Amino acid sequence: MNQENLYLQLKSEIEKAQSIIIFSHVNPDGDTIGSNLALKLIIERQFGKKADSVFIGKLPGVYSYLPAFEQFIDAKNINPEKVYDLAISVDVAAQDRMVYGCPIYDKAKFKVNIDHHQTNIGYGDLNIIEPTACVGVILHKIFKEWNCNIDIEVARCIYTSLLTDTGGFRYENTTPEAFMIASELVEAGVSPSHEFRVCYETKPQNMVQFQAYIVFNTIFYNNGKIAVTKITRSDMSRFNATEDFSEGIVEVLRTCKNVEIAVILKETLEGYTKVSLRSKTVDIIPIVLEFGGGGHKFAAGCTIKKPLAIAYEKLLQRIQSELKCEII
Ligand code: 5GP
Ligand code: MN
Repeated sequence: MNQENLYLQLKSEIEKAQSIIIFSHVNPDGDTIGSNLALKLIIERQFGKKADSVFIGKLPGVYSYLPAFEQFIDAKNINPEKVYDLAISVDVAAQDRMVYGCPIYDKAKFKVNIDHHQTNIGYGDLNIIEPTACVGVILHKIFKEWNCNIDIEVARCIYTSLLTDTGGFRYENTTPEAFMIASELVEAGVSPSHEFRVCYETKPQNMVQFQAYIVFNTIFYNNGKIAVTKITRSDMSRFNATEDFSEGIVEVLRTCKNVEIAVILKETLEGYTKVSLRSKTVDIIPIVLEFGGGGHKFAAGCTIKKPLAIAYEKLLQRIQSELKCEII
């Protein structure tokens, strides 16, 4: 089936549904939050139906400038017995990224999966997966196909999704289409300088200091080709850090000239290790797949069910072997 037919099938599922829920991935970022709210607003304004936007983990306060942000519900607070007519996930690479939201998604009468991760296996009844595009771009195309009015509030949600997913219009997904859509959103009233400020220049002071400290602790291996830093629970308590404080650190490590692969390992509350990997030119998907993770070619992640020190060693060796470096 071509993409336009998939878009129309989604439209008819929304028209049929009496109850709708939209999922973001665990510890959501701007990409999944902006997409989720844009879809919620369109369902409410163009279809006249209610849609519950849900998150899993911690919702970063930085995105509170977005319309309808205060209506986000923790999936924990949804009645686990409730059967929705329609469940839609946005930017959720794998079903386990909905963690405790999974049973609610699974129970829904019809499941849709809108995503851009090439590792997505298509776990929905309807899968709209476009690996080279931002989810914001996919949604904008869908709304256009449905002849929706993209008002300023919807436009701001899509813009945030685009801005954060492209790293401020810098990564490979900064396509002509992304710029064209961004231009339409600006025409609709979005102010790029305002969105940049509220999105990137509103960090709490302790977050900036925490990030500087974690960057300072970076260890460079193999002539600086590999940069690794870690976050322990005690680092977190020292700075009174919340889960979202680690966002953006690994991208700073990648700014070093020689760095090919940058890594951040974070000790989780359960004593496991959450890993974020970034690369300049090497495809890191094979590395994260070995540890049960996923993502994109140059930005991927996984959770290793081992203590930080063990995960660190295993992952570093795997990266060194991928780069054909000496294992040290
Ligand atoms: P981050 O490092 O910012 O958490 O994630 C980078 C990319 O990899 C994102 O697109 C994210 O969805 C994906 N990703 C991160 N962790 C996991 C994981 O454990 N499993 C899967 N399938 N994808 C992940
Ligand atoms: Mn995301």
